[in-house]
Amino acid sequence: MRHRLLVPGAAALSLLLAIPASAADFTPGAPGVGDSYYPESGNGGYDVSHYDLRLKYQPKTDLLEGTATLLATTTQDLSRFNLDFGLKVSEIRVNGKKATYATSGKHELEITPATPLEKGKQISVVVRYAGKPSELKIDNFSAWARTPDGGVVAQEPDSAVWWFPSNDHPTDKATFDISVAVPDGTQAISNGVLTSQSSKLGWTRYNWRSDKPQATYLTTLAIGKFDITTDKTANGLPVLNAVSKDLGANEGAARASIERTAEVTEWLEGVFGPYPFNSVGGYVPNVPAGYALETQTRPFYGKKAFDRGANVSVVVHELAHQWYGDSVSLKDWKDIWVNEGFAAYSQWLWSEKEGEGTAQELADYVYAQHPADDPFWKVKPGDPGADRQFDSAVYDRGALALQALRDKLGDRTFFKILKAWPTEHRYGNASVADFVKFAEQKSGKPLAEFFDTWLFQPSKPAAAATKSTAQRSFRAAQTPVAQPKSWKQIAATHDMHVQPHRH
Ligand SMILES: [Zn+2]
Repeated sequence: MRHRLLVPGAAALSLLLAIPASAADFTPGAPGVGDSYYPESGNGGYDVSHYDLRLKYQPKTDLLEGTATLLATTTQDLSRFNLDFGLKVSEIRVNGKKATYATSGKHELEITPATPLEKGKQISVVVRYAGKPSELKIDNFSAWARTPDGGVVAQEPDSAVWWFPSNDHPTDKATFDISVAVPDGTQAISNGVLTSQSSKLGWTRYNWRSDKPQATYLTTLAIGKFDITTDKTANGLPVLNAVSKDLGANEGAARASIERTAEVTEWLEGVFGPYPFNSVGGYVPNVPAGYALETQTRPFYGKKAFDRGANVSVVVHELAHQWYGDSVSLKDWKDIWVNEGFAAYSQWLWSEKEGEGTAQELADYVYAQHPADDPFWKVKPGDPGADRQFDSAVYDRGALALQALRDKLGDRTFFKILKAWPTEHRYGNASVADFVKFAEQKSGKPLAEFFDTWLFQPSKPAAAATKSTAQRSFRAAQTPVAQPKSWKQIAATHDMHVQPHRH
């Protein structure tokens, strides 16, 4: 609160004239950050630095009970502010004092602190809550999947509202401590390092820590019965993989895929630079889903991803996101190409390394596969629209754009850019326009028109065929290129990602 109005004297008067203070200065924080596709996502008026989640989950009933403590800094004088959350709240305290609250919109929690909050101050927000997350439906959808032995939450672009209150937009990243108590014999898997595990009164508590900035949608939780393996990479990075004990015939293929995590991470470090986080791994719960998601340090893989055997390509995709998407996050959901174009292209690079077809061959294949009148070319990877955000064209045409860039700049400059971007933007946010500028700076070439053709025009780029064919003949003349065993097989396995969902 401001007390300066009560202070008598000339000094106070001059201050009063310089900064007119009144209750009108304190205004509500915006109910969204103004994202182009999801205007209600996130909130205005504060910036979260840390989430501490203390949870208890009973698989038999799907009851999740929790206390979330958020540490944040106000970015305006706030009369009230919002969190994004869907479960039932029993108490909220701001800076230790009870606050009043109401719900609005689809998942907005409006919090009015006992005392208005001045700009630039550190605040703490404690939210006590309980509920059955699988019963929370938003637009008839639930991001929380119950399993025979627990539950899983891993969805894009929204998943947090089903299990913790947050500023739910990738522009507000924070560190996380996630502590989960589950019945003895059950495991709780989350992001980062498992710092401790202890049991008492029939409950086992798992404490997880992510010590680098993490977006809310990349924060994950899985409860169930898992086989857990731990190891270290050659660089000493802890590896933790978890595979459900209930995968049936897919168990071998799942293990054979995610046990390649350390190897793939080391290879990706050669392409993208140092791995940005404190732990790596993956988990496969017993959900029937066929998508995978780049949940930070510990990607989620749906069981169906392994229906046809091992799928290392999907592991490459999700681990590539740790640099492109997780460490460097998008600024706005329309910038999805800075995530998916690069994760998809990394699968082509892996194929090239494995001798199953070069990135150039895969690009030529995708280019030839889609005639000019194919709706594929109507999708603009640089701004696909909310309902096309996870269209396969965002991935395939997105990767094609990168091969075209490689052809244009040459391997030396192209790979320098691939490594420099995640290094120079580490733990931050960036847009498609930022990448265009970045590539221009690093290459010293004007690229605006090039990127406009590849990412923003609803039509098949004409120059590509000749360019890539020329490039291929050049390469073929130098070294014989191994032909892939089956193009179809590569095409079918390389695009295993998230199913579209929005609200
Ligand atoms: Zn992806």
